Amino acid sequence: MIPATHIIEATYIIAVVLFILSLKWLSSPASARRGVWAGEVGMLLAIVGTLFYRGIVDYKGIAIALVLGAIIGVPLGNVQMTAVPQRTALSHAFGALCVTLVGTAEFYLRTPNVPAFVMSVLSLEVILGGLTFTGSLMAAGKLQEVLPQRPITYRNQNAVNFTLFAIALGIAVRLVMVPTDTWLFPIFAALALLFGVLLIIPIGGADMPTVIAILNSYAGLSACAMGFALDNKLLIVAGALDGSSGLILSIIMCRAMNRSFTNVLFGAFGQIQTKHGVVEQRAYRSAGPEEAAAILEAATNVIIVPGYGLAVAQAQHKIRELYDSLMRRGIDVKFAIHPVAGRMPGHMNVLLAEADIPYDRLYEMDDINSEFAQCDVALVIGANDVTNPAARTDKTSPIYGMPILEVDKAHTVMVIKRSMNPGFAGIDNDLYYMDKTLMLFGDAKAFVSEIVKELPARVGA
Ligand code: NAP
Repeated sequence: MIPATHIIEATYIIAVVLFILSLKWLSSPASARRGVWAGEVGMLLAIVGTLFYRGIVDYKGIAIALVLGAIIGVPLGNVQMTAVPQRTALSHAFGALCVTLVGTAEFYLRTPNVPAFVMSVLSLEVILGGLTFTGSLMAAGKLQEVLPQRPITYRNQNAVNFTLFAIALGIAVRLVMVPTDTWLFPIFAALALLFGVLLIIPIGGADMPTVIAILNSYAGLSACAMGFALDNKLLIVAGALDGSSGLILSIIMCRAMNRSFTNVLFGAFGQIQTKHGVVEQRAYRSAGPEEAAAILEAATNVIIVPGYGLAVAQAQHKIRELYDSLMRRGIDVKFAIHPVAGRMPGHMNVLLAEADIPYDRLYEMDDINSEFAQCDVALVIGANDVTNPAARTDKTSPIYGMPILEVDKAHTVMVIKRSMNPGFAGIDNDLYYMDKTLMLFGDAKAFVSEIVKELPARVGA
């Protein structure tokens, strides 16, 4: 008979390999589905392997937890795509709560004999787990709009936060030196929970997706620390992978918005702004589906720029019809994908993949920007901030320096959106007032469907 420890080690190694492959495959739309499967199978193996662990004294409790987890998990898996950021935040919150509780239990089980190394990793686990738990709940609440989206700020806020953090660190050091001071532990855990709330309140709703990636990183690092405390290699590796991938993702998102980490975390971005304190009335041109269809028909090449509105309208299948219709007419159609279009990284890729738009028609910002100048029509569908030329030209703009899709260089620009309302960053878009721009007002799905109907039928088309 194979010893249980060997079975556990073998399943853990396969799980780790699957986690690494999953991350690799998830980095390309073409292999992303395989990546999801690899991650799921890896997680299943990790759970099954752990169930062989000899130290388990009662399977009943685990069975109840599995049923409860499934009851919570199934509806969470079925949320709308636009609600995925807050859903992800909730997952982080649950994971971090689990890490904090395990860390707390380990502390009380081990006292008074807690070696300095174990106490150090337990402190790291509880502080990161605690702040990620409350921080993620706050982030989910802001994104779901059950909490105010605007940054809540007060004088000396950062100083207060740093002081509290320093006190928590001081307590951690004391516990490492004198672990029998158990009365300090609840204060330490409470400070971690409080710090999570205080860290998130000054951050505006607009920055929440980036904050969630950062919290993802903290959750991974706390799980990694838990792995050291429990001497579990799978947790160490999986936590490190989670922590580092969350960090890399948040760096990519910050770069795509030309923001620094400190600006996202402490910049209170997202306070209501109007240019020079006044809302200007500016002239723009608008058109209906008939005119839009005629312009598209006359084009040789078209670049479609999808954004958050496409996700809201669930227009991806209609866009596929438009794409098919134009391609059949010999018009070259490409899709320009901005790294932070939508509300989460890869949002547009997922939507367009749902409608089976060929991956080789999707171009990343750096690859397509040089093509706008030769493009007949740039058709912007529910995208706003990621096309705003103010990011290039207006030093006073909050998005100045953010790399954008250079839609304004196309010969003609058409923008489908419902109104002249701003996008996520809450600022006006100069693109809409250019002579070459036509505003196409309406819901993205309904408007694209009208255009498809208007495109005159051709023999053999
Ligand atoms: P956006 O700037 O938020 O603009 C979306 C536009 O879609 C809005 O102006 C809205 O205008 C329109 N819209 C909404 N519902 C619509 C519907 N049913 N039909 C047609 N149009 C509709 O979106 P974006 O250009 O994709 O930019 C993303 C923003 O999110 C950026 O500011 C980015 O920094 C931020 N962000 C993204 C991420 C990420 O990971 N993707 C992370 C952090 C921050 P109307 O209301 O007039 O229709």
